[in-house]
Amino acid sequence: MEYQSPMYEMVVRQFDEAAERLRLDPNLSGRLRHPKRSLVVTLPVRMDDGRVEVFTGYRVQHDTTLGPSKGGIRYHPDVHLGEITALAMLMSWKCALMGLPFGGAKGGVRCDSKTLSRAENQRLTRRYTSEILLMIGPEVDIPAPDVATNEQTMAWMMDTYSMQKGYAVPGIVTGKPIAIGGTLGRREATGMGVAHVALQTAARHGLRPSGMRVAIQGFGNVGGTAAKYLAREGCRVIAVSNSREGIHNERGLAIETLLRHAEQEGTFKGYPEGDAITNAELLELPCEALIPAAIENQVTERNAPRLRCRLIVEGANGPTTIEADRILEDRGIRVIPDILANSGGVVVSYFEWVQDLQYYFWTEEEIVGRLKTLLSRAFEGVWTMSSEEKVTLRMAALMKGVRRIAEAMRVRGLYP
Ligand code: NAD
Repeated sequence: MEYQSPMYEMVVRQFDEAAERLRLDPNLSGRLRHPKRSLVVTLPVRMDDGRVEVFTGYRVQHDTTLGPSKGGIRYHPDVHLGEITALAMLMSWKCALMGLPFGGAKGGVRCDSKTLSRAENQRLTRRYTSEILLMIGPEVDIPAPDVATNEQTMAWMMDTYSMQKGYAVPGIVTGKPIAIGGTLGRREATGMGVAHVALQTAARHGLRPSGMRVAIQGFGNVGGTAAKYLAREGCRVIAVSNSREGIHNERGLAIETLLRHAEQEGTFKGYPEGDAITNAELLELPCEALIPAAIENQVTERNAPRLRCRLIVEGANGPTTIEADRILEDRGIRVIPDILANSGGVVVSYFEWVQDLQYYFWTEEEIVGRLKTLLSRAFEGVWTMSSEEKVTLRMAALMKGVRRIAEAMRVRGLYP
């Protein structure tokens, strides 16, 4: 199958283990090992210099048993069908774990968005949206931002879809600007959730915020926001990085100042209170919590033996390989899995969709309060299952997600 890839293999192996522990009916697990639908699209885009460049885009829906599928759109030079399929599968487990009425999907375009002008980015986004239009819709499949896509990308997608329909359809995407039906709190939801779950786990380990050194790989939407909230709670964020550089200060970085500096200058360079550090060095710093919040496959069998953290809180999707997971378990390093730790984004996306469908908007306090309630409930459930079944938090989270989908499939029955 064209979606076979190391990342797909990894998520299927995790699923197989969960299915085995749940003693899942093989007739159900056989279906869930594969995506429901995959679309590969070719995108000719007029560049600013007049040339037409041809890009490849993807949209994969892994499962829609519980409701419309949900998942982000990623612009990255390494995007491929195997990665998108794996991420779509993780979205299914995540939505089910969080009790949302959604299945899992993911999309992406293979491109280096840093080299595209704003106009090229807009034409690429609109062409991509048109090409996947037959597969998306507020009751079918609802995209959201992911790596290198943002509120503006979602606004262009919403506009393109709405122009085709002839009326405004705010519920077609989440993570869009407030002006067109976005929700309060969405931009910060994932990072805030990562911080919330990190502190909950730390408390179970007897750690207080003031005693926590935190290192964060990826200083974008998720990493930057998690850093801000953890620093506000009194943690010492000692290092952060992006794809090009990192910065380290054992006494703790002034995160809000650093965020402003990075936004204005486009680099950490010139920020006086810290030393340069590579991504590889950051991952191996002694700290209480390590938060990979960039891309997948960052904690591997190569660096896992050398990590010196007590907790890993997965802000990114799939940052830890299966081999690394085993090493970390043996070493007593607790891993809070992606589908729990970074689920704040999809939870508030769900709130956004509900508000769009009702044309009735909530206050930020309502949104943050409900987010924390759902996260805490999911955390408690996963923690309890992990101790009862004597499995890792990752396996417990997967088992809970998979079990919910499997039960829904069983009662719906096999069509025809
Ligand atoms: P983003 O584009 O805002 O930020 C990504 C950050 O990672 C940037 O600082 C970038 O420079 C850095 N980065 C990219 N490649 C890197 C590399 N090879 N090494 C080190 N750093 C690298 O993206 P984001 O929205 O913050 O997403 C980050 C991760 O979180 C992704 O795995 C994404 O799937 C996951 N996630 C995002 C959301 C969300 O709501 N945005 C929700 C759930 C999960």
